[in-house]
Amino acid sequence: MIYADNAATTKPSKIAVQAMLKCMENSWGNPSSLYAFGQEAAEELNSARKIIAECIGAKAEEIYFTSGGSESDNQAILSAAKVGARKGKRHIISTAFEHHAVLHTLNKLEREGFEIELLDVHENGIISAEQVQNAIRKDTCLVTIMFANNEIGTIQPIEEIGKICRERKIIFHTDAVQAAGHLPINVQEQNIDMLSISAHKFHGPKGTGVLFVRKGIPLSSLIEGGAQEKGKRAGTENVPAILGMAAALEDACKNLSASTEKISALKEKLIEGLSKISHSSLNGDRKNRLPGNVSFCFEGIEGESLLLLLDDKGICASSGSACTSGSLDPSHVLLAIGRPHEVAHGSLRLSIDEDISEQDVEYIIKSVGEVVDYLRNISPLWKDKISGKKEFILP
Ligand SMILES: *Cc1c(COP(=O)(O)O)cnc(C)c1O
Repeated sequence: MIYADNAATTKPSKIAVQAMLKCMENSWGNPSSLYAFGQEAAEELNSARKIIAECIGAKAEEIYFTSGGSESDNQAILSAAKVGARKGKRHIISTAFEHHAVLHTLNKLEREGFEIELLDVHENGIISAEQVQNAIRKDTCLVTIMFANNEIGTIQPIEEIGKICRERKIIFHTDAVQAAGHLPINVQEQNIDMLSISAHKFHGPKGTGVLFVRKGIPLSSLIEGGAQEKGKRAGTENVPAILGMAAALEDACKNLSASTEKISALKEKLIEGLSKISHSSLNGDRKNRLPGNVSFCFEGIEGESLLLLLDDKGICASSGSACTSGSLDPSHVLLAIGRPHEVAHGSLRLSIDEDISEQDVEYIIKSVGEVVDYLRNISPLWKDKISGKKEFILP
Protein backbone atom coordinates (compact mmCIF):
# COMPACT_ATOMS: atom_id res chain seq x y z
CA MET A 1 0.00 0.00 0.00
CA ILE A 2 1.19 3.50 -0.82
CA TYR A 3 -0.10 6.05 1.68
CA ALA A 4 -0.43 9.47 0.05
CA ASP A 5 -3.03 11.07 2.28
CA ASN A 6 -0.92 12.71 4.98
CA ALA A 7 -3.05 15.85 4.94
CA ALA A 8 -5.91 13.71 6.32
CA THR A 9 -3.79 12.06 8.97
CA THR A 10 -0.25 10.73 9.42
CA LYS A 11 1.16 7.48 10.72
CA PRO A 12 2.27 7.91 14.36
CA SER A 13 6.07 7.93 14.44
CA LYS A 14 8.02 5.35 16.48
CA ILE A 15 9.25 8.15 18.72
CA ALA A 16 5.68 9.26 19.45
CA VAL A 17 4.40 5.73 20.09
CA GLN A 18 7.31 5.01 22.44
CA ALA A 19 6.68 8.19 24.42
CA MET A 20 3.00 7.28 24.76
CA LEU A 21 3.64 3.68 25.77
CA LYS A 22 6.20 4.71 28.35
CA CYS A 23 3.74 7.16 29.85
CA MET A 24 0.84 4.69 29.93
CA GLU A 25 2.98 2.06 31.60
CA ASN A 26 4.92 4.24 34.03
CA SER A 27 3.58 7.72 34.63
CA TRP A 28 -0.17 7.26 34.34
CA GLY A 29 -1.05 9.21 37.47
CA ASN A 30 -3.42 12.18 37.46
CA PRO A 31 -1.34 15.37 37.11
CA SER A 32 -3.73 17.14 39.51
CA SER A 33 -3.00 14.69 42.35
CA LEU A 34 -0.76 15.99 45.10
CA TYR A 35 1.24 12.84 45.86
CA ALA A 36 4.58 12.32 44.15
CA PHE A 37 3.21 9.81 41.62
CA GLY A 38 0.70 12.36 40.31
CA GLN A 39 3.29 15.11 40.33
CA GLU A 40 5.53 12.96 38.15
CA ALA A 41 2.84 13.13 35.47
CA ALA A 42 2.50 16.88 36.05
CA GLU A 43 6.23 17.29 35.47
CA GLU A 44 6.05 15.28 32.25
CA LEU A 45 3.22 17.55 31.14
CA ASN A 46 5.31 20.63 31.86
CA SER A 47 8.27 19.35 29.93
CA ALA A 48 5.99 18.62 26.96
CA ARG A 49 4.69 22.18 27.21
CA LYS A 50 8.25 23.53 27.12
CA ILE A 51 9.22 21.39 24.13
CA ILE A 52 6.19 22.47 22.12
CA ALA A 53 6.65 26.13 23.06
CA GLU A 54 10.25 26.01 21.86
CA CYS A 55 9.23 24.47 18.54
CA ILE A 56 7.02 27.48 17.72
CA GLY A 57 8.97 30.26 19.44
CA ALA A 58 6.46 30.68 22.27
CA LYS A 59 6.65 30.65 26.08
CA ALA A 60 5.52 27.51 27.93
CA GLU A 61 2.77 29.44 29.73
CA GLU A 62 1.26 30.39 26.35
CA ILE A 63 0.55 26.76 25.41
CA TYR A 64 -2.90 25.27 26.12
CA PHE A 65 -3.56 21.59 25.46
CA THR A 66 -6.81 20.76 23.65
CA SER A 67 -8.40 17.77 21.92
CA GLY A 68 -7.06 18.80 18.49
CA GLY A 69 -7.26 21.29 15.65
CA SER A 70 -11.05 21.66 15.64
CA GLU A 71 -11.28 22.46 19.34
CA SER A 72 -8.37 24.92 19.14
CA ASP A 73 -9.99 26.74 16.20
CA ASN A 74 -13.36 26.90 17.98
CA GLN A 75 -11.90 28.17 21.23
CA ALA A 76 -9.65 30.78 19.61
CA ILE A 77 -12.40 32.25 17.44
CA LEU A 78 -15.20 32.19 20.01
CA SER A 79 -12.91 33.65 22.64
CA ALA A 80 -11.65 36.49 20.42
CA ALA A 81 -15.25 37.24 19.36
CA LYS A 82 -16.27 37.54 23.01
CA VAL A 83 -13.45 40.01 23.66
CA GLY A 84 -14.57 42.01 20.61
CA ALA A 85 -18.24 42.01 21.56
CA ARG A 86 -17.39 43.47 24.98
CA LYS A 87 -15.94 46.49 23.15
CA GLY A 88 -18.79 46.66 20.64
CA LYS A 89 -16.61 45.22 17.85
CA ARG A 90 -18.37 42.55 15.82
CA HIS A 91 -16.56 42.45 12.47
CA ILE A 92 -14.40 39.39 11.69
CA ILE A 93 -12.14 38.87 8.66
CA SER A 94 -11.36 35.40 7.30
CA THR A 95 -11.15 33.66 3.93
CA ALA A 96 -13.47 31.53 1.81
CA PHE A 97 -11.13 28.53 1.86
CA GLU A 98 -10.65 27.91 5.59
CA HIS A 99 -11.17 24.49 7.17
CA HIS A 100 -14.77 23.81 8.28
CA ALA A 101 -13.67 24.02 11.92
CA VAL A 102 -13.16 27.73 11.24
CA LEU A 103 -15.97 28.33 8.72
CA HIS A 104 -18.68 26.64 10.77
CA THR A 105 -17.61 28.49 13.92
CA LEU A 106 -17.85 31.75 11.96
CA ASN A 107 -21.34 30.74 10.71
CA LYS A 108 -22.39 30.32 14.31
CA LEU A 109 -21.09 33.79 15.18
CA GLU A 110 -22.90 35.26 12.17
CA ARG A 111 -26.18 33.87 13.49
CA GLU A 112 -25.35 35.62 16.78
CA GLY A 113 -25.02 38.98 15.07
CA PHE A 114 -21.35 39.16 14.07
CA GLU A 115 -20.45 40.38 10.61
CA ILE A 116 -18.20 37.87 8.86
CA GLU A 117 -16.17 39.02 5.87
CA LEU A 118 -14.63 36.18 3.85
CA LEU A 119 -11.86 37.44 1.58
CA ASP A 120 -11.77 36.18 -2.01
CA VAL A 121 -8.88 33.87 -2.68
CA HIS A 122 -6.70 34.62 -5.72
CA GLU A 123 -6.68 31.80 -8.30
CA ASN A 124 -3.17 30.82 -7.15
CA GLY A 125 -4.65 30.00 -3.72
CA ILE A 126 -3.03 32.88 -1.87
CA ILE A 127 -4.52 35.81 0.05
CA SER A 128 -2.54 39.04 -0.01
CA ALA A 129 -1.74 41.10 3.07
CA GLU A 130 -3.11 44.06 1.15
CA GLN A 131 -6.55 42.42 0.97
CA VAL A 132 -6.50 42.10 4.74
CA GLN A 133 -5.34 45.70 5.13
CA ASN A 134 -8.19 46.95 2.94
CA ALA A 135 -10.83 44.91 4.77
CA ILE A 136 -9.93 46.10 8.28
CA ARG A 137 -12.48 48.43 9.88
CA LYS A 138 -12.77 50.25 13.20
CA ASP A 139 -15.00 47.47 14.52
CA THR A 140 -12.82 44.53 13.38
CA CYS A 141 -12.11 42.31 16.39
CA LEU A 142 -10.43 39.30 14.76
CA VAL A 143 -8.55 38.21 11.66
CA THR A 144 -8.38 34.42 11.25
CA ILE A 145 -6.47 33.11 8.22
CA MET A 146 -5.00 29.65 7.80
CA PHE A 147 -1.22 29.18 7.60
CA ALA A 148 -1.37 26.60 4.79
CA ASN A 149 -4.42 25.22 3.05
CA ASN A 150 -5.27 21.58 3.70
CA GLU A 151 -6.48 20.82 0.17
CA ILE A 152 -4.25 22.75 -2.19
CA GLY A 153 -1.30 23.27 0.17
CA THR A 154 -0.81 26.98 -0.53
CA ILE A 155 1.07 28.99 2.09
CA GLN A 156 -0.25 32.40 3.12
CA PRO A 157 1.84 35.54 3.89
CA ILE A 158 1.32 35.06 7.63
CA GLU A 159 4.10 37.34 8.85
CA GLU A 160 2.86 40.31 6.79
CA ILE A 161 -0.78 39.74 7.75
CA GLY A 162 0.29 39.50 11.40
CA LYS A 163 2.23 42.74 11.12
CA ILE A 164 -0.81 44.60 9.81
CA CYS A 165 -3.00 43.19 12.59
CA ARG A 166 -0.38 44.09 15.19
CA GLU A 167 -0.27 47.69 13.97
CA ARG A 168 -4.06 47.95 14.12
CA LYS A 169 -4.24 46.13 17.50
CA ILE A 170 -6.48 43.38 16.12
CA ILE A 171 -6.20 39.78 17.32
CA PHE A 172 -4.68 37.54 14.63
CA HIS A 173 -5.42 33.81 14.77
CA THR A 174 -4.04 31.26 12.33
CA ASP A 175 -5.08 27.65 11.80
CA ALA A 176 -1.59 26.17 11.46
CA VAL A 177 -2.70 22.53 11.53
CA GLN A 178 -1.16 21.78 8.12
CA ALA A 179 1.92 23.87 8.81
CA ALA A 180 3.13 22.62 12.19
CA GLY A 181 5.96 20.13 11.77
CA HIS A 182 6.08 20.86 8.01
CA LEU A 183 7.04 24.54 7.83
CA PRO A 184 9.10 26.77 10.14
CA ILE A 185 6.84 28.50 12.66
CA ASN A 186 7.83 31.31 14.99
CA VAL A 187 4.92 33.11 16.65
CA GLN A 188 7.17 36.05 17.61
CA GLU A 189 8.70 36.72 14.23
CA GLN A 190 5.44 35.96 12.43
CA ASN A 191 3.34 38.27 14.64
CA ILE A 192 0.84 35.57 15.56
CA ASP A 193 -1.50 36.06 18.55
CA MET A 194 -3.31 32.72 18.50
CA LEU A 195 -2.38 29.52 16.66
CA SER A 196 -3.99 26.08 16.37
CA ILE A 197 -2.11 22.82 15.85
CA SER A 198 -3.09 19.15 15.83
CA ALA A 199 -0.77 16.25 16.66
CA HIS A 200 -2.09 13.72 14.16
CA LYS A 201 -1.01 15.88 11.22
CA PHE A 202 2.68 15.59 12.14
CA HIS A 203 3.00 11.91 13.08
CA GLY A 204 1.60 12.30 16.58
CA PRO A 205 -1.58 10.72 18.01
CA LYS A 206 -5.17 11.72 17.17
CA GLY A 207 -7.39 13.62 19.57
CA THR A 208 -4.79 16.01 20.92
CA GLY A 209 -3.62 19.46 19.92
CA VAL A 210 -2.51 22.87 21.11
CA LEU A 211 -3.87 26.36 21.19
CA PHE A 212 -1.14 28.98 21.52
CA VAL A 213 -2.41 32.22 23.04
CA ARG A 214 -0.06 35.18 23.37
CA LYS A 215 0.37 36.42 26.93
CA GLY A 216 -1.98 39.30 27.63
CA ILE A 217 -4.74 38.14 25.28
CA PRO A 218 -7.78 37.09 27.30
CA LEU A 219 -8.93 33.51 26.71
CA SER A 220 -12.33 32.11 27.61
CA SER A 221 -13.04 28.40 28.03
CA LEU A 222 -15.19 26.09 25.92
CA ILE A 223 -15.34 23.32 28.51
CA GLU A 224 -16.17 23.99 32.16
CA GLY A 225 -15.04 21.84 35.06
CA GLY A 226 -11.73 21.47 36.87
CA ALA A 227 -8.88 23.95 36.97
CA GLN A 228 -6.68 22.25 34.36
CA GLU A 229 -4.88 24.49 31.83
CA LYS A 230 -5.20 27.51 34.15
CA GLY A 231 -8.97 27.06 34.20
CA LYS A 232 -9.24 27.55 30.43
CA ARG A 233 -9.74 23.91 29.46
CA ALA A 234 -11.24 21.58 32.02
CA GLY A 235 -10.79 17.81 31.98
CA THR A 236 -7.99 15.49 33.06
CA GLU A 237 -5.18 15.98 30.59
CA ASN A 238 -4.54 13.31 27.96
CA VAL A 239 -0.99 12.92 29.25
CA PRO A 240 0.17 10.04 27.01
CA ALA A 241 -1.11 11.75 23.86
CA ILE A 242 0.41 15.08 24.89
CA LEU A 243 3.80 13.43 25.44
CA GLY A 244 3.46 11.69 22.08
CA MET A 245 2.63 15.03 20.46
CA ALA A 246 5.65 16.76 22.02
CA ALA A 247 7.98 13.95 20.91
CA ALA A 248 6.56 14.01 17.36
CA LEU A 249 6.79 17.78 17.01
CA GLU A 250 10.31 17.96 18.43
CA ASP A 251 11.38 15.26 15.99
CA ALA A 252 9.67 16.95 13.03
CA CYS A 253 11.22 20.34 13.83
CA LYS A 254 14.68 18.87 14.32
CA ASN A 255 14.59 17.18 10.90
CA LEU A 256 12.59 19.87 9.12
CA SER A 257 15.12 21.08 6.56
CA ALA A 258 16.32 17.60 5.58
CA SER A 259 12.82 16.16 5.24
CA THR A 260 11.56 19.23 3.38
CA GLU A 261 14.31 18.85 0.82
CA LYS A 262 13.61 15.16 0.31
CA ILE A 263 9.81 15.46 0.14
CA SER A 264 9.91 18.55 -2.11
CA ALA A 265 12.01 16.70 -4.68
CA LEU A 266 9.44 13.89 -4.81
CA LYS A 267 6.60 16.40 -5.00
CA GLU A 268 8.25 18.10 -7.99
CA LYS A 269 8.58 14.75 -9.71
CA LEU A 270 4.91 13.99 -9.08
CA ILE A 271 3.81 17.37 -10.41
CA GLU A 272 6.00 16.95 -13.51
CA GLY A 273 4.55 13.51 -14.20
CA LEU A 274 0.90 14.36 -13.62
CA SER A 275 1.14 17.59 -15.66
CA LYS A 276 1.70 15.38 -18.73
CA ILE A 277 -1.89 14.14 -18.51
CA SER A 278 -3.92 16.14 -21.04
CA HIS A 279 -6.59 18.60 -19.87
CA SER A 280 -5.24 18.67 -16.33
CA SER A 281 -4.20 21.52 -14.08
CA LEU A 282 -2.30 21.91 -10.81
CA ASN A 283 -4.37 23.56 -8.07
CA GLY A 284 -2.64 26.36 -6.21
CA ASP A 285 0.68 28.11 -6.61
CA ARG A 286 3.51 25.89 -7.83
CA LYS A 287 6.17 27.36 -5.52
CA ASN A 288 4.37 28.62 -2.45
CA ARG A 289 2.98 25.30 -1.26
CA LEU A 290 3.52 22.67 1.42
CA PRO A 291 6.49 20.38 0.67
CA GLY A 292 4.30 17.28 0.31
CA ASN A 293 1.14 18.64 -1.33
CA VAL A 294 0.13 17.79 -4.90
CA SER A 295 -3.39 18.77 -5.95
CA PHE A 296 -4.74 18.41 -9.47
CA CYS A 297 -7.96 18.75 -11.41
CA PHE A 298 -8.54 16.40 -14.34
CA GLU A 299 -11.29 17.40 -16.73
CA GLY A 300 -13.94 14.85 -17.58
CA ILE A 301 -13.74 12.58 -14.54
CA GLU A 302 -15.32 12.21 -11.09
CA GLY A 303 -12.93 12.42 -8.15
CA GLU A 304 -14.74 9.63 -6.27
CA SER A 305 -14.34 7.11 -9.10
CA LEU A 306 -10.69 8.06 -9.40
CA LEU A 307 -10.12 7.41 -5.69
CA LEU A 308 -11.84 4.02 -5.75
CA LEU A 309 -9.84 2.84 -8.74
CA LEU A 310 -6.60 4.11 -7.18
CA ASP A 311 -7.51 2.22 -4.01
CA ASP A 312 -7.75 -0.95 -6.15
CA LYS A 313 -4.19 -0.22 -7.22
CA GLY A 314 -3.08 0.15 -3.60
CA ILE A 315 -2.87 3.94 -3.51
CA CYS A 316 -4.52 5.94 -0.69
CA ALA A 317 -5.36 9.46 -1.84
CA SER A 318 -8.09 12.01 -1.43
CA SER A 319 -10.37 14.20 -3.51
CA GLY A 320 -11.59 17.67 -2.74
CA SER A 321 -15.24 16.84 -3.14
CA ALA A 322 -17.19 15.53 -0.19
CA CYS A 323 -20.51 13.73 -0.19
CA THR A 324 -22.79 15.89 1.93
CA SER A 325 -26.42 15.03 2.60
CA GLY A 326 -26.88 13.00 -0.58
CA SER A 327 -25.68 15.69 -2.98
CA LEU A 328 -22.16 15.57 -4.30
CA ASP A 329 -20.80 19.05 -3.62
CA PRO A 330 -17.44 20.01 -5.05
CA SER A 331 -14.87 21.31 -2.60
CA HIS A 332 -15.41 24.85 -1.30
CA VAL A 333 -11.64 25.34 -1.60
CA LEU A 334 -11.56 24.59 -5.34
CA LEU A 335 -14.61 26.77 -5.93
CA ALA A 336 -12.93 29.55 -3.89
CA ILE A 337 -9.94 29.59 -6.28
CA GLY A 338 -12.33 29.83 -9.21
CA ARG A 339 -12.47 26.29 -10.52
CA PRO A 340 -15.78 25.71 -12.36
CA HIS A 341 -18.03 23.05 -10.74
CA GLU A 342 -17.41 20.53 -13.50
CA VAL A 343 -13.63 20.76 -13.15
CA ALA A 344 -13.71 20.88 -9.34
CA HIS A 345 -15.44 17.48 -9.35
CA GLY A 346 -12.41 15.86 -10.96
CA SER A 347 -9.90 16.65 -8.26
CA LEU A 348 -7.15 14.59 -6.69
CA ARG A 349 -5.02 15.43 -3.64
CA LEU A 350 -1.84 13.49 -2.97
CA SER A 351 -0.08 14.43 0.26
CA ILE A 352 3.20 12.60 0.67
CA ASP A 353 5.72 12.13 3.47
CA GLU A 354 9.20 10.65 3.80
CA ASP A 355 7.97 7.06 3.62
CA ILE A 356 7.37 7.45 -0.13
CA SER A 357 10.09 6.25 -2.49
CA GLU A 358 10.93 7.34 -6.00
CA GLN A 359 9.50 4.09 -7.35
CA ASP A 360 6.27 4.82 -5.48
CA VAL A 361 6.09 8.21 -7.19
CA GLU A 362 6.60 6.57 -10.59
CA TYR A 363 3.92 4.01 -9.81
CA ILE A 364 1.48 6.77 -8.75
CA ILE A 365 2.09 8.75 -11.96
CA LYS A 366 1.55 5.64 -14.11
CA SER A 367 -1.57 4.56 -12.18
CA VAL A 368 -3.24 7.98 -12.21
CA GLY A 369 -2.63 8.20 -15.98
CA GLU A 370 -4.22 4.79 -16.54
CA VAL A 371 -7.23 5.47 -14.34
CA VAL A 372 -7.88 8.92 -15.84
CA ASP A 373 -7.73 7.40 -19.35
CA TYR A 374 -10.09 4.60 -18.38
CA LEU A 375 -12.65 6.94 -16.80
CA ARG A 376 -12.56 9.35 -19.72
CA ASN A 377 -13.07 6.51 -22.19
CA ILE A 378 -16.32 5.43 -20.51
CA SER A 379 -17.64 9.00 -20.12
CA PRO A 380 -20.32 10.21 -22.59
CA LEU A 381 -19.39 13.81 -21.75
CA TRP A 382 -15.79 13.13 -22.73
CA LYS A 383 -16.94 11.73 -26.10
CA ASP A 384 -18.78 14.99 -26.75
CA LYS A 385 -15.63 16.94 -25.98
CA ILE A 386 -13.43 14.79 -28.17
CA SER A 387 -15.89 15.07 -31.08
CA GLY A 388 -16.06 18.83 -30.64
CA LYS A 389 -19.73 18.92 -29.61
CA LYS A 390 -18.67 20.39 -26.26
CA GLU A 391 -15.70 22.56 -25.45
CA PHE A 392 -12.80 21.67 -23.20
CA ILE A 393 -12.36 23.83 -20.13
CA LEU A 394 -8.76 22.97 -19.26
CA PRO A 395 -5.99 23.16 -21.88
C1 LIG B 1 -7.15 18.42 10.09
C2 LIG B 1 -7.38 19.87 10.16
C3 LIG B 1 -8.15 20.46 11.19
C4 LIG B 1 -8.86 19.63 12.22
O1 LIG B 1 -7.97 19.06 13.14
P1 LIG B 1 -8.47 17.85 14.05
O2 LIG B 1 -7.35 17.63 15.01
O3 LIG B 1 -8.70 16.69 13.16
O4 LIG B 1 -9.72 18.32 14.74
C5 LIG B 1 -8.30 21.83 11.20
N1 LIG B 1 -7.70 22.60 10.28
C6 LIG B 1 -6.96 22.09 9.27
C7 LIG B 1 -6.32 23.01 8.29
C8 LIG B 1 -6.78 20.71 9.17
O5 LIG B 1 -6.05 20.21 8.18
